[in-house]
Amino acid sequence: SPEFCSQIITPSCNTTFSYIDELNKSIRPFLSDLIKTSYFKYFKVDLDKQCKFWSAQHFCATENCAVEILPPDQFNWSNIHNDSLKPSQLGKINRADSTAIDNSIETEAIDTCEDLDYSHFDEDHACVYVNLLNNPERFTGYGGNQSFDVWKAIYSENCFPNTNPMSMKNLDAEPEQCIEKNVFYRIVSGLHASIAVHLSNEYLDAETGEFYPNLKVFMERVGSFNDRLSNIYFNYAIVSQSIVRLAQILPLKQFIQSGYDDISPAQKQIFDQIGNVESVDVYDDLLLQEIIPSLSQNTLFDTSTLFSEDPLLKNEFRARFKNISAIMDCVGCDRCRMWGKIQTIGYGTALKILFEDEAAENLKFRRIEIVALINTFDRLSKSIASINNFKSMYLKHLEDV
Ligand code: FAD
Repeated sequence: SPEFCSQIITPSCNTTFSYIDELNKSIRPFLSDLIKTSYFKYFKVDLDKQCKFWSAQHFCATENCAVEILPPDQFNWSNIHNDSLKPSQLGKINRADSTAIDNSIETEAIDTCEDLDYSHFDEDHACVYVNLLNNPERFTGYGGNQSFDVWKAIYSENCFPNTNPMSMKNLDAEPEQCIEKNVFYRIVSGLHASIAVHLSNEYLDAETGEFYPNLKVFMERVGSFNDRLSNIYFNYAIVSQSIVRLAQILPLKQFIQSGYDDISPAQKQIFDQIGNVESVDVYDDLLLQEIIPSLSQNTLFDTSTLFSEDPLLKNEFRARFKNISAIMDCVGCDRCRMWGKIQTIGYGTALKILFEDEAAENLKFRRIEIVALINTFDRLSKSIASINNFKSMYLKHLEDV
């Protein structure tokens, strides 16, 4: 495989595919433990928000598209506190059955620097809470024209002024010349490729109903395309760099300790109980003692040359990326939409951290941004672990034939 440094903006040339593979191997166990903690496994989302770009139906024919939400009115929070949130005690509920649920969560106005946000957030009364561990990102069967149109709309956001729209026939058109547009394109393509890795890694066997790694699907969608593989690593570099930077500008431990900033005081009390299921030391141990020091060993992504020639380009970049997060409301499969929102907010947070560095002192973060950032990093980390697994499967397959 080509050396990563030839394709990535990094001064030190330390960032190679194999460097990231090794780095990822070393932090993977800590990261997968981290996303199982109470702080990181709950996500607040509005699954009924109207698509504002076209009249999209939220429709996906298979049950794999469904999202199991937390039923607030049936929830005994003190049980949850005592029993560390065992899934069996949460009660299971699909959105289709959830009309009776009162989701009227009062939201507090929070003091954020909205102009510097790279994503939209779901903050209205229709929001529900989801335990991400019960709703893995995997093959759902969502596809055809519906998903193609969404991807087309997403890639069209890369048409900055004075450029031609991306071809409809070939979404992976020529890489852009301007470095910032190239970054934009690679983030989107890396997101697209990472989703494809997850759906190939947990692909549904229609006969057994089991999910398994499907090498053929992986090769057809990602494995045979060097650029798509490379864009996943590229995103890994961006997101890791942003986490390192975040720890420098935000007292992360205290932030996590302070709990939930986007809910009413009454809800806060309830969620504080959950937040304290693990001692805060767990975040300290996993994130601050293990993950961040490993990520800090090298500069994985250097932003210093970006936006230097045309400062207005950053506003354009931010607005267009923000649009992508709004396009997620047009995804016609609940499970895909939810993971799409998590990841667009996650990338949006990474970009806010890296590109708005000069305003670092004034940057404010919502809990949902930190949750999305870490879960997006976990998605990329799992993608890279899966790619390595598919590589072994492919080599074995070659030996067998
Ligand atoms: P698509 O993946 O739809 O791609 C369309 C075209 O884009 C391809 O023909 C190719 O020209 C180009 N292309 C493909 N990959 C790349 C890339 N990495 N970079 C550049 N160009 C590319 N399905 C699930 O099963 N589970 C999910 O969780 C899921 N989440 C989704 C989230 C979102 C936001 C969206 C829009 C879709 C999601 N899907 C999910 C659907 C999935 O992404 C595919 O669209 C679907 O499986 C159909 O795949 P396809 O092979 O027809 O091509």
